[in-house]
Amino acid sequence: MLRTFINILIPVLLSKIIADAAMGNIREVLVLTGAVLLIKLFEFIVFCVSDNELKKNLSVNKHICKLEFYKFFFERPVHELFSLKAGETKEKLNDDFETITKKYTSTYPQTITAFLSAAAYLVYLLSLSKWIALIFFAFSMLQVIPPIVIRKYLQVNYDNCRDIEAELTDFVVGGYRAFLLIKLYKLDIWWKKKLAGLHREYSKIGRKSIYTGTAESVLNDIVNSVLTYVTYGLIGWLVLKSIVTLEVGVQAIAVSGSVFGLVRTMFQVIRDVAVSRAAERRISDSPTAAETEDARISAGNISISDLSFSYDDNELISNLNLSIDNPKISVIKGKNGSGKTTLLYLIAGVLKGNAGEVRIDGFSSLELTASNYPGELFFLPQEDAVFNFTAMELFGMMFPGCKDKVLEMAESFGLSRALLLESKISELSGGERKKVFLAAAFAVDPVLMILDEPTNSLDNGGKALLKELLNQREGRTLLVTHDVFLDDIAEHIYVIDKGANDEDV
Ligand code: ADP
Repeated sequence: MLRTFINILIPVLLSKIIADAAMGNIREVLVLTGAVLLIKLFEFIVFCVSDNELKKNLSVNKHICKLEFYKFFFERPVHELFSLKAGETKEKLNDDFETITKKYTSTYPQTITAFLSAAAYLVYLLSLSKWIALIFFAFSMLQVIPPIVIRKYLQVNYDNCRDIEAELTDFVVGGYRAFLLIKLYKLDIWWKKKLAGLHREYSKIGRKSIYTGTAESVLNDIVNSVLTYVTYGLIGWLVLKSIVTLEVGVQAIAVSGSVFGLVRTMFQVIRDVAVSRAAERRISDSPTAAETEDARISAGNISISDLSFSYDDNELISNLNLSIDNPKISVIKGKNGSGKTTLLYLIAGVLKGNAGEVRIDGFSSLELTASNYPGELFFLPQEDAVFNFTAMELFGMMFPGCKDKVLEMAESFGLSRALLLESKISELSGGERKKVFLAAAFAVDPVLMILDEPTNSLDNGGKALLKELLNQREGRTLLVTHDVFLDDIAEHIYVIDKGANDEDV
């Protein structure tokens, strides 16, 4: 508002300077010119300080918002998190988030300020002449045309751009991880061809964005030119007809740029809201069931009824019915590709079936929340997480303030304190990594432990300890393993093949 006040004050002073110059009052002209310079200097200092403060606060608050957003993100059920693709997630966490915060941190405040300033200008213009006020506000409404015409295209472009960016990120991320393999297996020609194809698609969509941007700025320029020249002409006509004085005409022309600029800002809210609506829709595309804290796993009784699951059109599990409520240790076996891993994912609530359900102690596995993992249900997938921090750091995060048990467990698997302390998990061998996560699993000692091929890469000592720990455990364990080593401790072995199960033991 201070800026508006100054923007009104300066034209008033300018018109006085012109009037004084016309009357030959040199001293007044010099004094008023000095005053204009001082006001501009004051404005510069005030805005430098306040803009800095504003930007600092904005960046701190943006960071807080982003943390909240991540919190919201991690409240999603595990099966939703599991289905997210890297590129899509990156687009949502970065670009969509930025677009939406821009609406709240800049579009809305700017629009409100523009409305208030426009009201102040209206009062000022009315004080000059009602004709001038009418001309200004009637013509500046023309500026609503470009954002309205362009609005729909902007939304479509936004969606298309984000989609192709996501695909590109997925591909490039995959590519970075696989650079070595690309070289080892001579995949570079295929990789470059695919990347070139994606880039061609990207630039096609990018071109549409450029056309939309150009169309918007051309429309804006045309509207601005019409506005400027028509207003100047009309004000000149009012002066010539002596409806307003020359002094009033000069003041009106001096503020015209600011008034039109403000009204343009007011209308730009239309395009910014259109774009941010597209971003909001993308973020909320996957409906999120609010996490409730009701599910409790106290015995680990698993009941699967009429469960079906398919990847795309390929039905992998059909009408599976299974109860695991008696044995302490059960093993699932089956041919490669028969769906064992998929079944564990469905039981752990990581995947959602197409039909039927999995219940654990009466609760749907899809209702499991952060409060159930890992204390009540510890799920150890076949592929261990390749974290970029040490096992000790992992244990510190998983067991805040009580690392002793897990350290003891890890050391009993043969992992040295130095390795746990100093080596990043990503630098460990496959077997060492498996031992780190098994140590965590047994230190948690959950009600229900689900392990997918836990003996993979384990040495004989590790396997023997695993067997002993499984035997000692009070809780229930469900394993997928090809390894016959654990068969003798299994109280039940289920063999699955497309959902049908034979109970062997
Ligand atoms: P198993 O553990 O019995 O070897 P999986 O459950 O890992 O079998 O996989 C079963 C089948 O489902 C395999 O043919 C596999 O190719 C397919 N499959 C697994 N994951 C996916 C996926 N994300 N998308 C499509 N197909 C998949």
